[in-house]
Amino acid sequence: MEPILLKIGYGIIVIGTSIIRYPHQKRNKSNKITTDKKGTLEKSLLGLVFLGMVILPLIYIFTALFSFADYDLPLYLHISGLLLIVPMLWLFYRSHKNLGQNWSATLEIREGHKVVDSGVYRYVRHPMYSAILLLVIIQALLLNNYIAGLSGVISFGLLYILRVKNEERMMIKEFGDEYKQYMKRTKRIIPFIL
Ligand code: SAH
Repeated sequence: MEPILLKIGYGIIVIGTSIIRYPHQKRNKSNKITTDKKGTLEKSLLGLVFLGMVILPLIYIFTALFSFADYDLPLYLHISGLLLIVPMLWLFYRSHKNLGQNWSATLEIREGHKVVDSGVYRYVRHPMYSAILLLVIIQALLLNNYIAGLSGVISFGLLYILRVKNEERMMIKEFGDEYKQYMKRTKRIIPFIL
């Protein structure tokens, strides 16, 4: 498929996810944070993810700087990538909506924080990470470049691996049995499987 169409697809993702997140970011700014687990590692990882999912893709989309690292994929993978945008954005939207004021981009607990176990959180504990993992797979399918296509999988994969255990530890420390019971009922990112 024409690279321009695939790039437009990725543009829709960047704009769509920003529009979904913006009102939550704005509202939750006024949250009073009672526990903050955001260390240097976490901050560096957040920067790395921004580089991998936004900056490098934008350089690839608007310049020819990375053209030496292009790869080819068959048409059916391009079409799959484009079709997956809709369920990905839906899950990204639902998980923000369900988490509501308890959402933050990093590891923290706010005053009045509650364990959410309904909506998409009924099926997996980390539906927002499921959506973002789907996003970085789509990124590799649409941006056929070893730098700009794979930088999302690598940077978010690293954040996920290093963060998810700490996040669950923080939730257990804060909510004890309530979160442990919730963990028993759910898988992490794929319902019934993983
Ligand atoms: N890991 C979740 C949430 C990501 S946002 C997901 O992928 O959907 C990260 C913040 O969400 C964490 O700082 C934590 O405070 C909060 N959080 C994570 N799981 C939660 C839950 N089940 N209920 C309420 N808050 C939760």
